Amino acid sequence: MTDTKPKNGSETSANGGERHQFQAEVSRLLNIVANSLYSEKDIFLRELISNASDACDKLRYAALTDADLASGDSEYRIDIKFDREARTLTVADNGIGLNHQDLIDNLGTIASSGTAAFIEAVSEAKKDEDEKSGDVNLIGQFGVGFYSAFMVADEVSVTTRKAGDEDGWIWKSDGMGEFTIEPTADAERGAEVTLHLKKEADEYLDAMRLRHIVKTYSDHISFPISLTETGGGEEAPVGEKLNQASAIWARPKGEVDEDAHKEFYHHVSHAIDEPWLTLHFRAEGMIEYTGLLYVPTTRPFDLFHPERKCSVKLYVKRVFITNDCEHLLPSWLRFLRGVIDSEDLPLNVSRELLQNNPVLARIKAGVTSRVLNALGEKAEKESEAYAGFWEAFGPALKEGLYEDFEHREKLLNLVRFRTTAGDELVSLAEYKARMKEGQEAIYYIAGDELEAVQRSPQLEGFRAKGIEVLLMTDPIDEFWLPSVGVYETTPFKSVTRGSADLEKIDASEEETNDDAKAEEAVEGIDALIAAIKLELGDSVKDVRSSARLTDSAVCLVADDDDLDMNLQRILKQHGQLNEVTPRVLELNPKHALISGLAESAAKSALDVALKDAAHLLLDQARIMEGEALPDPTAYAKRMADVMAMAYRK
Ligand code: ADP
Repeated sequence: MTDTKPKNGSETSANGGERHQFQAEVSRLLNIVANSLYSEKDIFLRELISNASDACDKLRYAALTDADLASGDSEYRIDIKFDREARTLTVADNGIGLNHQDLIDNLGTIASSGTAAFIEAVSEAKKDEDEKSGDVNLIGQFGVGFYSAFMVADEVSVTTRKAGDEDGWIWKSDGMGEFTIEPTADAERGAEVTLHLKKEADEYLDAMRLRHIVKTYSDHISFPISLTETGGGEEAPVGEKLNQASAIWARPKGEVDEDAHKEFYHHVSHAIDEPWLTLHFRAEGMIEYTGLLYVPTTRPFDLFHPERKCSVKLYVKRVFITNDCEHLLPSWLRFLRGVIDSEDLPLNVSRELLQNNPVLARIKAGVTSRVLNALGEKAEKESEAYAGFWEAFGPALKEGLYEDFEHREKLLNLVRFRTTAGDELVSLAEYKARMKEGQEAIYYIAGDELEAVQRSPQLEGFRAKGIEVLLMTDPIDEFWLPSVGVYETTPFKSVTRGSADLEKIDASEEETNDDAKAEEAVEGIDALIAAIKLELGDSVKDVRSSARLTDSAVCLVADDDDLDMNLQRILKQHGQLNEVTPRVLELNPKHALISGLAESAAKSALDVALKDAAHLLLDQARIMEGEALPDPTAYAKRMADVMAMAYRK
């Protein structure tokens, strides 16, 4: 059969058709889909109609600059046909169509990083769990697009001709790892996707059933969808226009119900969770536009993928322009899905022209402030629901604090934090209201894991005085904090940097008599500090007595004019800092170990045992920071010596 082997690894057969392998991820995806772990099979039709609608949108846009592309047929439409005898169901459109390369690129690979990540996740879940359990939830987060056809079909063919081309093609696959492409002379412009239905998919050969599915899932599609029964050489229309066929965002707000929003959200987001928040608005005045925006419920897999951009669709007077417009919304709102439809941009606006467009800039400003207001309202009125939103998208909003000066104030009222005070998320206003008498800063501690951060020794003194500390565990925190600096007029201050100034703050009920006693100077502490400084030399910046410790003997902190320790660790991890700067070693004079050492330092500052103790104290503090020791062997040896002394018979 095979007579040539072209460079892309495909094979050409005698009739001019070629065989191609699916990309490995597609094969894996098809495996998941065909075994149909997802119970709502009906969605395959939604996906195909959604693709058909996108294809019509694309041609309508392309025809703005090249009218010939749509010549002879510019009434865009989607036709569904079924044939009971042949057991086929077809979704046809007269949109942009696909050429030979498009077929290989789009119907043989997976372009979206999110989908690839999803397949990874499903495959991982499959390893540990029994076949079904994990997958249903995971697949629920994704629209699997075109490939969902294989849930109900054992063979799928796509007959297509790209607008402006003369050659047509037939793509065909049974979903088992390969597809074929052959030329055809009878393809109409657009694409006709034909499903040969599996035995158990009879229900999709029924007009009532199909009409119902279209009404349920695709009523929002703005092109007319018709239904026709074919077979035995006859065609019988059974529905001229199954859907409303008008842009959903242009309909009056009150006429769009929750279900319609849900379906439209699925269409624009390619996700199948539900919108957490829906914003449908019309801006009138100097510039006019309509917006229909959704905040998803779950965070998409690729929200923090470096290539993830804004994917809200831009329309001009109901004509789709692009879903890839960086200038439509700030990137920290990239989790939004939906549509902005402008009345003022010229229809033939090229994507390049959108770059410094003043109209677009005003839309961006207007929409951003609307979204922030809506989030603010949610935060105020439904704090529990808002907490869920915050968990999913908070880290993205924090990017705005860092890079968007204009919206900083509003964003500062939207941020929420975990704190040492309990499990609830806390706003900055709430934090401020709970500040102690004499407390002049908003205290925080940063690290990469909540539990580790909560155990930090530097928090001890704050806990003892009942002073709340914000726990920051998003990497972005280290970047917005220094650039924001204050909330209202209160500065942020890291508890691991600079002196603690805890004395000035009014003690709470939690303070005990012990603490009061400890205020008295511990004898020999100055001698001990001097001895340790001498021994440790350049490996510390300073050694001092600490106000922030109660239980631990020592801790490390950054000096006032140095970068916060966690930031230094992040920078070092990313190769942006060679060495962390020496830190300050703080000693807890209330700790028995320190007061004991102080006593012996007072007697003889040159005691050799003090030298070992100095190194052990520093290493201990490093371990509590979760850092690797520069010389673990030396540490082990000193530790062994000290223990040997304690257990000496
Ligand atoms: P998605 O729609 O999420 O991109 P799909 O797997 O559904 O993923 O489709 C992959 C690609 O195939 C689409 O992005 C589009 O480029 C192309 N495609 C699918 N259906 C059609 C169609 N009816 N007409 C033209 N192109 C299509």
